[in-house]
Amino acid sequence: MPRAKAGIIRRLQTPTSALPTPITPGDPLTEPLSARPLATPLRPSACPGLLRIVPALDGGICRIKLPGGVLSADQAFAVAAAAERFAGGVIEATNRGNLQIRGIGASHDALIATLLNAGLGPKNPASDDVRNLMLSPCAGVDALQLFDARPLAERILHTLESHPRFHELSPKFALSLDAGEGLAMLEHPHDLWLSALRVEGEVLLGFGLAGCPGDDSPIAAVTLDAGLDLVIGVLELFLEHARPEQTRMRHLLQEMPVAQFLDCLGERLSVPLKIDQKITTWRRSPIQANAHVGLYPLARPGLTCVGGVVPLGRLDPSTLRRVAQLSLDIGDGELAMTPWQSLMLRNVPAERSAVALDGLQAAGLLCDADQALSQMIACTGSAACGKGQADTKADALQLAAYLQKHGVSQPVHLSGCDRSCAAAHVAPITLLAVSTSRYNLYIRHADQPGFGELRGRDLTIEAVGALLTADSRSYTDD
Ligand code: SF4
Repeated sequence: MPRAKAGIIRRLQTPTSALPTPITPGDPLTEPLSARPLATPLRPSACPGLLRIVPALDGGICRIKLPGGVLSADQAFAVAAAAERFAGGVIEATNRGNLQIRGIGASHDALIATLLNAGLGPKNPASDDVRNLMLSPCAGVDALQLFDARPLAERILHTLESHPRFHELSPKFALSLDAGEGLAMLEHPHDLWLSALRVEGEVLLGFGLAGCPGDDSPIAAVTLDAGLDLVIGVLELFLEHARPEQTRMRHLLQEMPVAQFLDCLGERLSVPLKIDQKITTWRRSPIQANAHVGLYPLARPGLTCVGGVVPLGRLDPSTLRRVAQLSLDIGDGELAMTPWQSLMLRNVPAERSAVALDGLQAAGLLCDADQALSQMIACTGSAACGKGQADTKADALQLAAYLQKHGVSQPVHLSGCDRSCAAAHVAPITLLAVSTSRYNLYIRHADQPGFGELRGRDLTIEAVGALLTADSRSYTDD
């Protein structure tokens, strides 16, 4: 690792020239970032943020949190320019629908300024970390949604950003809001998850703690108009009871049973919690596998979404520019980043969807789930992470080529160590690196913790490919 890059960062002050205008003195939402010292966070994190660039073997990493995963074409151009001018030109799509720039050198101030000028920063510096609310990439336009999640999401994000108390939350503390869309990430565990459900003709907001709607039923529900109060109540209760070292909801629930949490929550809210069997036994309909790849019809007749997977989560500035231009030419001028490390052009006229699909493919995205690489995820690996036991991305390319040759496409996660940075959920197939280009193979199993059932030890990529090819169906039935 170059010494100059290894020394990069800690907490960065934001250049005044990068501030948005107009500025209202004393207004915490518009006061200059540099005018307010960054307080020491109660629950500090080593994760990257927009204002906290963290070092890696290939330089600094800056994470850009996108509201609902959405950025405008102009913002995409700004990200591409920043990555090209001030970093190594590597842009990553994260598994929370955000973007990262890698390989940042000494010009980190200029990079941050570019991003802030594009409107990609937080409303104030202390709130960057807490902007963790996951939505469907098709929120507001999905044919199956029970309500438009965007207005509530906007109010939740505004509350997270503007209430200093919530800045005490860990940067990993995360929420999800699922309005019943056909395209939604249901497997990622969240500290608080919200899911729309219909009970006796009324749409309610069910919720759960330290879990996900893909695995769990709601513990209770509220009416839709009480959604924001519910979120505030849950977060306040967490902060009142959790000690600083208890960064996540699951930590608190080890000491405070869910029933007790619910009792306290019920006393705090001005609206009743609905807890009956129809709610606590409700299960979310699963989503169709790989619905984010290729064409996805929308609620409005004649409009569609067109999605492409970013190969192994990495794209270069020219690719980002091309897809941003496509969104201007054919879509609605925005890109929706997804938790599947893919992106979507939304509101594309159906008669132009083939052109959009061709455009994404020509830009280098994978628009067909039969392409083996489209279902593969890999962490940074040893190429840029000191903990990596193997070059996971290079090995993923090799495995994808093997599977493609044999007509197999499987959801595989290659992890350089057991921290599992590339996947917030347990993938159907996990390859855990044990040394250079050698992996243990796990198959997800409902009754087994961790990555699942160990099916092979110390395997080469060829051996993994042969196993997955031999009986491809049995590996994903769990
Ligand atoms: S999973 Fe391990 S090797 Fe991969 S990026 Fe994370 S810490 Fe590094």
